[in-house]
Amino acid sequence: MTSGKLLMVGAGLSGAVIGRHLAEAGYNITVVDARDHVGGNCHTKRDTDTGVMVHVYGPHIFHTDDEEVWSYVNRFEPFQPYKNRVKTTSVDADGKRGVFSLPINLHTINQFFGRTMRPEEAHAFITEEQADTSIEDPQTFEDQAMRFVGKDLYEAFFKGYTIKQWGMPPSDLPAAILKRLPVRFNYDDNYFFHKFQGMPENGYTAMIEKILDHPRISVKLETVFDRNMGEAYDHVFYSGPLDGYFGYDLGRLGYRTLDFERFTHEGDYQGCAVMNYGEESVPYTRITEHKHFSPWEHHEGSVLYREFSRAADADDIPYYPIRQVKEKALLNDYVGLAERTDGVTFVGRLGTYRYLDMDVTIREALDTARGFEAKVATGESVPAFFVAPV
Ligand code: FAD
Ligand code: UDP
Repeated sequence: MTSGKLLMVGAGLSGAVIGRHLAEAGYNITVVDARDHVGGNCHTKRDTDTGVMVHVYGPHIFHTDDEEVWSYVNRFEPFQPYKNRVKTTSVDADGKRGVFSLPINLHTINQFFGRTMRPEEAHAFITEEQADTSIEDPQTFEDQAMRFVGKDLYEAFFKGYTIKQWGMPPSDLPAAILKRLPVRFNYDDNYFFHKFQGMPENGYTAMIEKILDHPRISVKLETVFDRNMGEAYDHVFYSGPLDGYFGYDLGRLGYRTLDFERFTHEGDYQGCAVMNYGEESVPYTRITEHKHFSPWEHHEGSVLYREFSRAADADDIPYYPIRQVKEKALLNDYVGLAERTDGVTFVGRLGTYRYLDMDVTIREALDTARGFEAKVATGESVPAFFVAPV
């Protein structure tokens, strides 16, 4: 089939990386996307008023330990060094409102408790006086926070934010969500701990356009996939919503969506790219000032977005999969349907209903493309999933 015709549904990272790999292997690739741009949710675009590069579907910072993925993205677009240093506005142990450093580090702890502790002292203070050591094996988000930082820090930085972000109490959420955030007993305020971190110089869309720029790839925008379309191709890689492929026949997989409220400012509004808001009484979760994502550029004007989270309706953009017990049961049913469907492989964050960072998306896309080649070479059937969604 190496001269075969393949269809990529979605011009995000999944469709672009799989398409590029298989185009280089000799396949003819068509990429369709319902939107009027490539890049999927990583899409970046210059703001017409200020000239600032905006991350249209929310802030995206590239971070990875994966050497192959890092050299892959750098092959298409130069990356500028960028460290994500997030701040959060909340209320300290004495009830005073302030700006604190995230993830929780020695600066946060000293400022929050009005202390001047050294690393060992802070460690002893948190583990012996704050943490709830009676919780042995934390299962929920709340237990995980209570076990590792204690009630005061949990309530100031995580409880309100998480209720706003997920629309449910942290005691109903899995511990794994919080495990993404470290707690540090030094002054390291880098949000991520990966070896490579950076920002594509001309934005993610420029990078993805270059990934798609190959003589055997044709891209059709504003083209909604329907299942009949697949018949003209030897195989389909589908990065749209898994339930959407089946016309939502079994019901809808739950997602959180985001609303963005744009505003502009002359100069520097908040002094950092991302300011979180820990208090439940502030209706938005964070404000992003996009010009700080490109510190190598200079812009007088500034454009900012307040971010609000809510349950996704049928017409909303699906952002975060909810993956609670109910959703996982429905997911299982869709996985069953997918596995009984020939000629299509489900990929990416929507096709497998998982939260995937960009580097993981690229890693899985490369592995999927190689897995596909291997199956074709041995004449085996191509599976519905190369990565299990559950
Ligand atoms: P998508 O980017 O969603 O692409 C899927 C594409 O398919 C879309 O363009 C869609 O229009 C198209 N499509 C869907 N259905 C159809 C159809 N029926 N017909 C035609 N086209 C269709 N990752 C990081 O590493 N760092 C970050 O800082 C980061 N921040 C994030 C912030 C937010 C708010 C969110 C939600 C995600 C963030 N991510 C981040 C994750 C990142 O967005 C994903 O890794 C990436 O978008 C996954 O790419 P994808 O191609 O799988 O999916
Ligand atoms: N979180 C929080 N307060 C913050 C930042 C994050 O409570 O200031 C919680 C929130 O529930 C979030 C989770 O920690 O979903 C993981 O944080 P991350 O920054 O990875 O969030 P995401 O990238 O999913 O928006």
